[in-house]
Amino acid sequence: MASNEAAPSGVDVSVPSIARVYDFMLGGKDNFAVDRTVAEHALKITPDGPQAAQANRAFLRRVVRFLAAEQKIGQFLDLGSGLPTQGNVHQVATRHDPQARVVYVDNDPIVLAHGRALLAHEGAATVIQADVRSPEVILEGAEVRQFLDFSRPIGLLLFGILHHIGDDEDPKAVAAKLIEALPSGSYVAISHFRDPGERQPDASRKAREVERIFNESLGTGRWRTDEEILSFVEGLEVLEPGLVPLAEWRPEPGETAPSQSDTYHTFVGLVARKP
Ligand code: SAM
Repeated sequence: MASNEAAPSGVDVSVPSIARVYDFMLGGKDNFAVDRTVAEHALKITPDGPQAAQANRAFLRRVVRFLAAEQKIGQFLDLGSGLPTQGNVHQVATRHDPQARVVYVDNDPIVLAHGRALLAHEGAATVIQADVRSPEVILEGAEVRQFLDFSRPIGLLLFGILHHIGDDEDPKAVAAKLIEALPSGSYVAISHFRDPGERQPDASRKAREVERIFNESLGTGRWRTDEEILSFVEGLEVLEPGLVPLAEWRPEPGETAPSQSDTYHTFVGLVARKP
């Protein structure tokens, strides 16, 4: 269990953080009492939150493998990358392409602290602290430009991040600026909280309740409709099978299908290609 003494400098353990609540859901150790209180509150409504977090990581690993091994994408920009966990992007990518390079970006200081420690001996990746809501600052940053070659296709990874950008912060414009900077042949992968609406009224009601808890405690969290999520990749080719529950995106042979419980229809993903 983490204690105040264990908090890296710059990390405020009196307010919950998205990265640390998610770390708790994934069974990690880089979280504090204040984070666990938020997570436990949400788990009362959707007890399968940890399975949803695991499904998101499994989706991420399948997507990175697909991009690195099958589409020969050798560079990745991972925004809202989160705390290091098992199967980080650079670990999956370099398994298929030893030259692969990854830039991790997150605005939470704890991610920078732990990311730098993990990457101290790895030349393949770097982590920077920046805010996704200012995409031009990220795109023009010296480290990003030094690490990634914007004349060759890039894998833009937006896993579990756009739903932390509020409607008033214009997530569509944020996504559009990022996509505009990518050369053709690049890919964009998104995982996002979904409100299934009338199709699954029970799941929709629970999503709204957890949305309220997240907004009251973390200040963010938006469960969007399929149309809203698809609008982030307007003009791109969405690959088969489209926008689907995470476990349904190209499952690998032998992967056991998760039970279709509370969060199954409320966390979805897609991969799209810039023509
Ligand atoms: N991408 C990882 C994954 O899907 O497994 C982590 C997702 S985690 C749910 C969301 C991450 O986005 C957190 O680490 C949080 O700190 C980060 N984040 C939230 N808002 C952000 C912002 N405006 N700019 C950069 N990072 C942000």
